[in-house]
Amino acid sequence: MVSLNRRVLMGGAAMAALSAPMLMVRAAQADAPKAADRAAPPETHRFKVGGFEVTVIKDGARPSGAPNETFGLGEPPRVVSELLEQNFLPTDQFVNSFAPVLVNTGSEVVLFDTGLGAAGREGGGGRLLEGLKAAGYAPEDVSIVVLTHMHGDHIGGLMEDGKPAFANARYIAGQREYDFWVDPARVGTPAEGGQKGVLANVKPLAEKTTFIAPGADVVSGITAMEAFGHSPGHMIYNLESDGKRLVLTADTANHFVLSLQRPDWEVKFDMDKPAAAAARAKVFDMIAADKLAFLGYHMPFPATGYVEKRDGGYRFVPKAYQFDI
Ligand SMILES: [Zn+2]
Repeated sequence: MVSLNRRVLMGGAAMAALSAPMLMVRAAQADAPKAADRAAPPETHRFKVGGFEVTVIKDGARPSGAPNETFGLGEPPRVVSELLEQNFLPTDQFVNSFAPVLVNTGSEVVLFDTGLGAAGREGGGGRLLEGLKAAGYAPEDVSIVVLTHMHGDHIGGLMEDGKPAFANARYIAGQREYDFWVDPARVGTPAEGGQKGVLANVKPLAEKTTFIAPGADVVSGITAMEAFGHSPGHMIYNLESDGKRLVLTADTANHFVLSLQRPDWEVKFDMDKPAAAAARAKVFDMIAADKLAFLGYHMPFPATGYVEKRDGGYRFVPKAYQFDI
């Protein structure tokens, strides 16, 4: 208030003399929350699925532009905005978050996807390793890394400084997914950038990788399921232990409102849009019908919940204490 009054009272010359240091103060204030965010460990969340201990780690979250430029392509922007408003969400930007998952089965420590890695650090992401530490795990504890698919936000954390980030791990990935990305036919296509990421981060680990198809078991109680479309070999994973289930849906749906309430809407990130929409309907019909819990990589942290089928889509219900009692 004091500075405001002084500003109002002061003439132009005095104002100009003051403005530079005032701007510096403003800049420092604007940077302060970011530094504080960095100082605190990233969010982690742990719960039990039968005998499995599941730890969700927030690799990062970032504002990601106008929602209608990613979700509901071809729909009138007003229609996208109305759906957001009905769900108490901003219409000008959306937040994309990233949730790798660690599953400790008692005999194996299985990591599903690896976050943005070094490439995401400037934007506040790439915090998986920090999150693991906060949750009581070292990178060396990870015995199996599973890749749901090979987009940059899932494979970015495989390597650190040109070396495997998880020194003791073996890897499991989809054969169909890998074959697509390493194919020389990708050169000169929109997939060329993604191919570079796969060649840098996944291919060096190919000798330690088991390439699988839908239906294969990662370990007893963890099974790959087909959900092709978001990427050519995108797969999801069913976890089952002591009669409890959790489906890791990866990127089958990428927004808890726009992708779930309007599963037929086209999504920029979906490489085969009709196939992705069909996979969304199939997977979430099953999850709704069986009242299963699911964990979606881009759902709001801790990225876990349920869906009720409604009006041609699904209403997202975040997890509460269902696994605690
Ligand atoms: Zn993703």
